[in-house]
Amino acid sequence: MIFSQIFDMLDVGIVILDRDLNVFKWNRWMTTHSKIHPEEVIGKPLFDFFPDLNTSWFLRNCKSVFAFGNFAFFSQKLHKYCFPFKAYNTLGSDFEYMQQSCTVGPLRDKNNKVNYIYMTVQDVTDIAAYEKKLITTNTKDGLTGIFNRRYFETKLTEEFDRHVRYDRPLSLIMIDIDHFKKINDSHGHQAGDFILKKLATLIDERIRTIDIVSRYGGEEFCCLLPETTIDSAMALAEFLRIGVETEIFQFKDKRLRITMSQGVSEINSDVDSAEALLKLADDALYESKRMGRNRIERMPEKQET
Ligand code: GH3
Ligand code: MG
Ligand code: MG
Repeated sequence: MIFSQIFDMLDVGIVILDRDLNVFKWNRWMTTHSKIHPEEVIGKPLFDFFPDLNTSWFLRNCKSVFAFGNFAFFSQKLHKYCFPFKAYNTLGSDFEYMQQSCTVGPLRDKNNKVNYIYMTVQDVTDIAAYEKKLITTNTKDGLTGIFNRRYFETKLTEEFDRHVRYDRPLSLIMIDIDHFKKINDSHGHQAGDFILKKLATLIDERIRTIDIVSRYGGEEFCCLLPETTIDSAMALAEFLRIGVETEIFQFKDKRLRITMSQGVSEINSDVDSAEALLKLADDALYESKRMGRNRIERMPEKQET
């Protein structure tokens, strides 16, 4: 009597299944979230109600709990959820389904035989949302929504190491908006912010999914291009240059235009660190500025044949 009250009071889903995976017990938490009452589900196969749970990993784990009396865990990180219950999002997250951590374990009779298994279902949506938010704030730039410098530098080191191991090409584009100070001075900081956001989107839309574009500093952006030679990187830089030069940035009643200068570098036997690759792109960018802006320079320079 007391146990059945506790069973229904817990803020955790509890399901007890028999050897054929028919539902033997179904607590109130499960009813609340599934809208399925115990009298509807008890004695019926669980998969009649949750066909998506009829997966090899779930079956395998249940069988092993019956056979060996062990415990199985379904982590939210791997499976997201077992039961497709509606998520009650807090912290501004947007999970469609409640994120769950589930456990399956044996229930033994007095002869130590496992005739039933239990399953607990814990709502971890808040934890998952918090983690997601933390990852976003740590890796994304607040203004533009693209990756931040910290994330970029981590990826640059990773890609550099991958190059060392597999000798794959790797290029970088460093971008700096031309005379951006003038935009702020003439049209206000808000107009400047608007351009930064729109430019970030414009670049992001033009690169491949394996490329990483980040806001490196105030009005500087950096593109990391794995598996890309300097010639391909130069072609992409030109594509971006034209895209930006021809774009009209409509801010309120103002039609603003900008250009940007770029420096491109590629890894080679003379480049012995990620920082050296970055320095080369920065030097090339400086050269673009010096040569008159709205242009692209490369380092190492092209060898004349
Ligand atoms: P150059 O062609 O030599 O690059 O000239 P520039 O004016 O772009 O370069 P400078 O380094 O003198 O100025 C960069 C400007 O970028 C100054 C700063 O106010 C502006 N800036 C940096 N971060 C932001 C930001 O988050 N929002 C806005 N609106 N402006 C920013
Ligand atoms: Mg700058
Ligand atoms: Mg600038």
